[in-house]
Amino acid sequence: MDLELTGKRALVLGASRGLGKAIAQGLAAEGAIVFAAARSVDKIEAWSVGMDGVHAVRLDLSNLTAVDKTVDKLLQDGGVDIIVNNGGGPPPGTAQSADRGDWISHFEAMAANLFHLTNRLLPAMKERKWGRVISITSSGVEQPIPNLALSNGIRSAIVGWSKTLANEVAGDGITVNVVMPGRIHTERVDELDAAASKRTETPVEEVAKKSRATIPAGRYGKPQEFADVVTFLASNRASYVTGSRIRIDGGAIKSI
Ligand code: NAD
Repeated sequence: MDLELTGKRALVLGASRGLGKAIAQGLAAEGAIVFAAARSVDKIEAWSVGMDGVHAVRLDLSNLTAVDKTVDKLLQDGGVDIIVNNGGGPPPGTAQSADRGDWISHFEAMAANLFHLTNRLLPAMKERKWGRVISITSSGVEQPIPNLALSNGIRSAIVGWSKTLANEVAGDGITVNVVMPGRIHTERVDELDAAASKRTETPVEEVAKKSRATIPAGRYGKPQEFADVVTFLASNRASYVTGSRIRIDGGAIKSI
């Protein structure tokens, strides 16, 4: 299947490692011109050695001025066709331990600044009558994950935003979707397992084994398995998929 991604311009946020990196690589492999953004451009430059069409962009999503500068530069060249809203996850913690300041600062970096960035890039997509907005959230929006209160709460707001936007721009040839990773084996998952190991005073291998046992597939997903679905959603072939939430979780969510 030709995904017809050649020459499409894609902005992938949080692309120095993990899911963002795998998505950026997947899109570039299909011929897209990828603006891979993160705080550490050196990491992007390291993984993109020898790859065509990948441009490293230094961007801290918690800094609105930096977000606006990045958007200004992209708009000078006509904007982008594809936005992959992704970034760092918040720290673990209970609902009772998250204070007001935590909610505000993480909401800004994980949601408000991405909504703003998307709104600024949308008019150019509308003019071309083609666009893709894909937000990476978490299976926690369907089945809240214990001790990840900030993630469960903020990502649920992203789902509401995404569905509202999908309805507004469907007539402009722009699709807007949410993708929900279950447990995909990235550094972040290793960090969460390490935190759980410390909290429960259980060896980390034991924590990971228990976690894998809750997944019908019996294993964590691979970043490429996740990126392949996102690459398809970003493509011309997924033109009738919009306003959806797509799970990539090896069956981990228990409901239908
Ligand atoms: P990760 O922590 O490995 O990667 C996050 C990326 O975002 C990195 O490139 C990091 O440098 C970048 N980033 C963090 N803060 C940033 C900032 N302020 N500005 C710009 N870039 C920033 O996480 P991951 O495993 O690749 O997951 C990606 C997202 O999906 C995270 O938000 C994570 O919480 C969420 N998620 C992942 C899983 C999973 O199984 N991997 C499951 C549920 C949710």
